[in-house]
Amino acid sequence: MVVAGHPPPPGFAAQANVGPEVYAEAAADPFAFWAEQAGRLRWDRPWDTVFGDAQWPTARWFGGGRLNVAVNCVDRHVDAGHGDRVAMHWEGEPGDRRTVTYAQLQDDVCRLAHGLTELGIGAGDRVVLYLPVLVQTVVATMACARIGAVVSLVFGGFSADALRFRVADTGAKLLIASDGQFRRGRAVGVKAAADEAVAGLDHVEHVLVVRRTGETDVPWTPGRDVWWHELLAGQSTQHEAASFDAEHPLFIVYTSGTTGRPKGLVHTTGGYLTHASWTHWAVFDLKPDDVYWCQADLAWVTAHTYVLYGPLSNGATQVVYEGSPLTPHPGRHFEVIERYRVSTYYTAPTLVRTFMKHGPELPAGHDLSSLRLLGSVGEAINPEAWRWLHEHVGGGRCPVVDTWWQSETGAAVVAPLPGVTTTKPGSATVPLPGMSATVVDDAGVETPPGVEGNLVITAPWPGMARTVWGDHDRFVSSYWAPYAAQGWYLAGDSASRDEDGYIWIGGRIDDVLNISGHRLSSIELESALVSHPRVAEAAVVGAPDDVTGQRIVAFVITRDAPGADDTGLAAELRAHVAARVGAVAKPREVVVVTDLPKTRSGKIMRRLVADLTAGRAGGDTTSLTDPAALGVVQRAWTAHVEARPGGG
Ligand code: ATP
Ligand code: MG
Repeated sequence: MVVAGHPPPPGFAAQANVGPEVYAEAAADPFAFWAEQAGRLRWDRPWDTVFGDAQWPTARWFGGGRLNVAVNCVDRHVDAGHGDRVAMHWEGEPGDRRTVTYAQLQDDVCRLAHGLTELGIGAGDRVVLYLPVLVQTVVATMACARIGAVVSLVFGGFSADALRFRVADTGAKLLIASDGQFRRGRAVGVKAAADEAVAGLDHVEHVLVVRRTGETDVPWTPGRDVWWHELLAGQSTQHEAASFDAEHPLFIVYTSGTTGRPKGLVHTTGGYLTHASWTHWAVFDLKPDDVYWCQADLAWVTAHTYVLYGPLSNGATQVVYEGSPLTPHPGRHFEVIERYRVSTYYTAPTLVRTFMKHGPELPAGHDLSSLRLLGSVGEAINPEAWRWLHEHVGGGRCPVVDTWWQSETGAAVVAPLPGVTTTKPGSATVPLPGMSATVVDDAGVETPPGVEGNLVITAPWPGMARTVWGDHDRFVSSYWAPYAAQGWYLAGDSASRDEDGYIWIGGRIDDVLNISGHRLSSIELESALVSHPRVAEAAVVGAPDDVTGQRIVAFVITRDAPGADDTGLAAELRAHVAARVGAVAKPREVVVVTDLPKTRSGKIMRRLVADLTAGRAGGDTTSLTDPAALGVVQRAWTAHVEARPGGG
């Protein structure tokens, strides 16, 4: 496949934080490279060794070093004279706004640090946050880091059951929740769900409650429940921060659950912050006058690294937006970009496809001239969506950084440097400086250009997760056992490399299709479908087939008006995919649906769709954003099967 590249615009390259020499410098001595980046942080005690295996595969980075993450993310900037710099332009879903400077952030973090101590929270204790995207949510993560408590953020839209699993799994001593939250323009109570989640869990000593929606009948357990504003009232804004070992746990983040029961990945202090901080500065080319906006919910790993720890460690000014991107209208994000003169917008493919459904008029109605850099994460971005983002949001002038990484990797692994790397729509490009990743077959041999294999990381990196909380065996067996002989990390994603060594993510290994011995990537087929003018979204799965092993079934959401005639669409799409990818990739069956099952972070859950076509049921659905979507697909599939010649 020959793909036209987009070299960095010369003006951008000339001012970029990082130049081309960094790749070679880092490759010559990756440990020295990461040590240099660690030097960007404030250490209370320098490290003795850059890297050491504690006990493989658990790595130790910056052993002997001590630091405080909150001091690095907040105090350091105030001490440097930037106390008046805006840390956050926060905007609530209903339109309420708050501007928070680094000095104000420091005051609140210190007050809450005292409050947490008063509630009996100390270093190593777990604190679960079940909050919307609020200033208080950011304050809570920093206050926990300040006193060495381990934080775990749970998406505010999760059910009581999903929350309970995470509270119990972490053995949390404190839950921080809100009275209510805004969901697509409506205030709903959430304290009752928080109560349900912690009922009978004796390790939870307190529930700290942030007032957000002003609910009137907040259920209350005296002695256990505490109001945030009452706890903070009268606390001192002076707080002496202790320093913690570089390997002290910082947070536990649960994977989005695309492939099964979520795993609680444990990230630590010095290595993680080094990786988060440097990649944020380099990949997003952060400048002091940037207004940076990563639109991920704070509970996702994306926001841990590229809203909380990365940007704050770099003293960034960012937009933090509470609500749904489509409330009260689908152009809300563009309105926000225009209002705050956002320069860097980091988004997700699912949202780009949603914008595309509305057409280029949506961004065109806003002044987006402040933008200078765009980013994408969460899934492979379909080339069609990349081009749309580049042209209709970025006005053709902004580099697009497609960043491949995972909860497990802590920060970006495969991504372009915007002033250096020529980008290709749909590829996350090449491993970042200091990172080693490649594509191999099951035996560990690099696959030739264009051939699908397994994406592996072949050398240790500072942001890597250290374990799965409470289940180290699962950490070893999921990621390290398959290539134990080589000591490589198995990412769980399929990929291929092109002639230039660019990495193209093909989807989850479990989602790779095997058609008469041909390995095909689900993403490549979906991108081919999405490039058809009538298709808005697609999920491609392999259904069991007696003859070919698997047959390709494509579920598509069309851009047609509701109730439009689908006759002929299947034939049109088959021909389109054959022309784009090849005859072997033609979907045998095309099923038109109005919705697809997605995780809360917007990833299509192909596993559940594949289960339907195979007649299996009962997969883990706790991460679904809308369980009804599965019913929609089920009904469409049943109708499709019944309508097939011979039925059933
Ligand atoms: P689980 O591991 O429970 O199935 P998950 O993998 O969806 O959940 P995350 O760690 O949040 O949870 O997501 C990481 C995954 O997202 C990657 O393994 C990859 O499949 C996908 N991904 C993220 N960014 C990109 C990208 N830029 N290009 C392609 N895929 C991406
Ligand atoms: Mg995963």
